Order: sequence, then structure tokens, then C-alpha cells
Amino acid sequence: MEVHLIGTGAASGWPNPWCRCASCTWMRDNGDVRGQTSAIVDGTLLLDCGPEAPRAAERQGRSLAEVRHLLFTHAHPDHAGPAALMWRGWTHTDEPLDVAGPPALIEECRRWVEPDAPINWHELRAGDELELGSYRVRAVAAAHGDASIGPALLYDITGPDSARMLWATDTAPLPQSTLDAVDGAAYDAVFLELTNGDDLDTDTDHLDLRSWPLQVAELRRRGAVTDSTRLVPIHLGHGNPPPPKLRVRMGGWGAHVPQDGERVQVGRAGAAPARSPRRVLVTGGARSGKSLWAEALVADQPDVLYVATARPRPEDEEWERRVELHRDRRPSTWRTTETQDVAKAIADEPAVLVDCATLWLADALEQPDLDGRVEEFAAAVSRHEGTVVIVTNEVGSGVVPATESGREFRDALGAMNARLARVCDEVWFVTAGIPTRLA
Ligand SMILES: [Zn+2]
Ligand SMILES: [Zn+2]
Repeated sequence: MEVHLIGTGAASGWPNPWCRCASCTWMRDNGDVRGQTSAIVDGTLLLDCGPEAPRAAERQGRSLAEVRHLLFTHAHPDHAGPAALMWRGWTHTDEPLDVAGPPALIEECRRWVEPDAPINWHELRAGDELELGSYRVRAVAAAHGDASIGPALLYDITGPDSARMLWATDTAPLPQSTLDAVDGAAYDAVFLELTNGDDLDTDTDHLDLRSWPLQVAELRRRGAVTDSTRLVPIHLGHGNPPPPKLRVRMGGWGAHVPQDGERVQVGRAGAAPARSPRRVLVTGGARSGKSLWAEALVADQPDVLYVATARPRPEDEEWERRVELHRDRRPSTWRTTETQDVAKAIADEPAVLVDCATLWLADALEQPDLDGRVEEFAAAVSRHEGTVVIVTNEVGSGVVPATESGREFRDALGAMNARLARVCDEVWFVTAGIPTRLA
């Protein structure tokens, strides 16, 4: 299947025409104007048709004349522009058109066309299946909208070439019934909405940059997303950083940030490359956002082990509060182990986050054979065949420590960081919450 993304923007598009935030300004300055989300599969199956979609398609060299099936997800105005059906009536075509969607929306659409228009209406509810030409469509529930728009739907679509995709906009984290319905689907592509970006607390009807990878992780756990699934964020709003930054943020999740007008191949020809081992070092100063970034790097993984290297300090209240804060932030599905034997802890784990190497070193400095211990740590990282992310501190650029033990620690940390960096595939430096890839 070929999925032509007519628009990849949220309801207000991206930039939001009323807004001067940094994200909207970047989009405007770079002429990257995203229209409301809609797509045409193989030229014949239209997924949503808001008021902007027909014109956007024309500008991208695609008319709707070949469209034989129209699937609506829900009645919000950026997805449902029924006037387009009236325009079709003016062409006097007698080619039949399937129009499918939630009942309330179908009823609204009927008002826009003559009673004898060549349209086959299909009212869909979650769980319904439908053959549309050579496409098999299954409606699943979205977590989106209120009673006023009726239940919103997402679509599980299998093409004539057996390629299978999930069209998932708009929705908050998927409802349980939908997770059960897509279990084992092994999609070739998942188009998953990412309306809110870094606006984490706006509303619960959409996904953001924290919930998006966790949703992917859940789909991986259920075999709906595999290593060869193409992941494409859609319905992008201005809470997202500009596309170049968004690509950096999402690259590690195997996601592809699309352009408006892009044609995404779904199926064998478009298969994402299989995952290679991924060994990552994340360094940065205190409170730089390095732990947050490290957590984001593994957030899409279905089975994560968190290795805490800090020894408990029950007498230090401030310390305990910080540890608790980190713990609360971590997804409940992650396993945690507290150990200084990092080499043993990370072996055979599919995805592991070590936070942090600095505290590990502080402990190792009090043991015999520091060099041997660092070598053992580095060797374990080097051997790792899954995803391993190690957090460490950057302390060398501050003032020279006043004490000899302070200087000794600083030097040992610098040497250890360099040793770990050599065995890692990626090295990131985080400052002011911004991750920069060093290697
Ligand atoms: Zn929408
Ligand atoms: Zn909506």
C-alpha cells in the first residue's frame, strides 16, 4: 500500500495561524505549513476528509476522482468536511462511493447529498468489519471526543497486497478493548497521533511526547508493533518542537516524522530495517535533563530494566526525595534493580537503563582494582546486543575541586566516561534540557 499523507497537522494545523510561539515561528520561517491530518491509500481510499483535504490533495497533484471509499474517524470539524460530498454530486458521476464512519457522522453527511446520489453508506461501530473494494477494514475504539460527536473510531486496514496498517488519530492512550483487538497484529505501519508534543498536561484526548513512546511500548508488548513496523506520527500540533528537533527526539524510537504530501510505502517494500544493538551514553551536568532524556530513549521498549546504582541513604532526606521523584516518573511497567554489579545486571536484558555511572564509580573507588572494574563495565556494554542506555555526569568543566579526593574522583570520572563512550554507538550531551548528539 502507498499512503499519501495529504496533511499531517492537528486541527489548527501547524503553525497555528494565531500563534507566535517558537515552534510556530520556525514552521512559518521555513515555509513548513502542515494542513489537517488526512491520507489517501493507493489513490482510492480516503482516510478522513476535513475542509482542507481536497484542496491540499490537489496542490500535491492528487485529485479525488479516483477515490472509491471514504472512511471517517469522527465528527470533529478537522476530520469531517461533508461539503466535499456535495461537490461530488455536481460532477454527475455515477461511480459508486463508499462512505463509512460513526453513525452520527453518517447521518450528518447524508444531509449534504441528493437521496439518489451513488453513495453506499456504512455506519460503523467499534468491532465492525467491512470489505471496501480490495481493502479489509476493521473499526476499533478511540479514546477521544465526548457524546456530542458519538464514539470516535480508529481503523485497522489490510490492503490487497496483505500489507496491514493502523490509522490511529485522534486518540488518547488506546482503550483496553482496542489493545486487545490489535493484539498480535504485527502491523507493517502504525500512524499514531502526536497532537500535544511537549505540552504534557493540556487534555487527555490526545497523545504527547511522553505518552507516545509508552503507547508504542504497549503495542510492542502485544506484538502489534514489531521491529519492522513503520511508525509514523501524525496530527502534529505546535506543542511539538520543529521537525528537525522532533526527528532527533523520535529517531531512537524508530519513528519517521513525515512531511505533508509524503507518500509512505507500507508493506514489504516499506519495511523498516531490523534493529541493531544500541549502546548509548548520556552525559550532562546536574539537573541538565540527562535522566529524562535517557528515560525517553528507552520509553518505546516493551521490557525495560532500570538499574539504580545509588545505595540507599536513609539518613539523607533531600537525597531520598530526589530518588523518589525519579521513581514516580518511571513507567509502572519497568522493572527496577538496585545494584553495583552493573555488568551482571545488564547481561541478557533486552533494554536496560543504568542511572547512573557516576554513583557506580563513587562506590567502585572504594573497592580494589578500579581499572579492572571499569574494564568489566565497558566490556559488558560492548557485548550487549539489545538497548543499553547509561547516564553519567559531566563534571570536568567546573572549578578544580579543592580536595585531593575530589580531584581524584573528577579524573576517574573523566577516564571512565571516555572508556564508556568508546564502546557506545551513540553519545549524547544534555544541557538546559536539550540533547545534543556528540557521536
Ligand atoms: Zn483532529
Ligand atoms: Zn478530534
